[in-house]
Amino acid sequence: MARTALVTGGTRGIGKAISEALVRDGFKVAANYAGNDKAAEAVAKELKIKVYKWDVGDYEACQAGIKRVEADLGPVDVLVNNAGITRDGFFHKMNVDQWREVIRVDLDSLFYMSRPVIEGMRERGFGRIVNITSINGQKGQAGQANYSAAKAGMIGFTKALAQENANKGVTVNTVAPGYIDTDMVAAVPEAALQKIIATIPVGRLGKAEEIAEMVAFLASDKAGFITGATMTVNGAQYIAG
Ligand code: NDP
Repeated sequence: MARTALVTGGTRGIGKAISEALVRDGFKVAANYAGNDKAAEAVAKELKIKVYKWDVGDYEACQAGIKRVEADLGPVDVLVNNAGITRDGFFHKMNVDQWREVIRVDLDSLFYMSRPVIEGMRERGFGRIVNITSINGQKGQAGQANYSAAKAGMIGFTKALAQENANKGVTVNTVAPGYIDTDMVAAVPEAALQKIIATIPVGRLGKAEEIAEMVAFLASDKAGFITGATMTVNGAQYIAG
């Protein structure tokens, strides 16, 4: 029977490409999103999947949303924590709302989304959790103390959860993209973007599909021995040890 995959932020950018790859691989896919109904409706139509609006930074909303997904598609076998935001600014100018919002959406969401599905995965003896972190969680990035902290936190969370669930058929990994050509990166001013591209040895931005293929592999049966890992996909911009 087809497995169920839930992708947060699964309607745009990297998340949309992940939803698409998982549909291709035979999963029943549920794509969550925050507020862009137009993009979500277009993806629902294009990929013939169900889309669900809730805020991954709200625990009660996550619990209720996951219940809806499970009622429609069955228990969640694969969870991709992809939804993320930036609220950039140098730390000496950062306000507490910029800090709290990024920690809430990018890091707290890992507890809010993973906690309601982990017991079921353990009981059924199969599960895949893939967390989308960032190159900037690995190396740090000026102007992103909030984002770098949240994304580095995801890596520690992943390692702990991987150890706790390894003997239950549940793997937990992070994928750490470099700069990928999505709306998030389109928000970076052109001159700054050209400077960033100059630091990428492959000489270009990554494609959302290139991240999606890594996630699809980690979600598959073939990846059962990979857990607690950080899979770096960044065109050699930063080579993590
Ligand atoms: P986009 O901004 O293109 O898309 C973000 C998606 O997340 C949208 O579907 C959005 O929904 C959803 N989302 C945002 N906030 C929430 C929320 N509070 N609750 C539920 N859904 C939410 O992002 P990218 O595709 O660029 O990034 C995806 C992930 O990859 C993020 O975690 C990001 O940090 C990470 N990443 C991205 C890189 C890049 O270069 N693009 C590099 C490294 C990491 P809606 O459409 O409704 O707004």
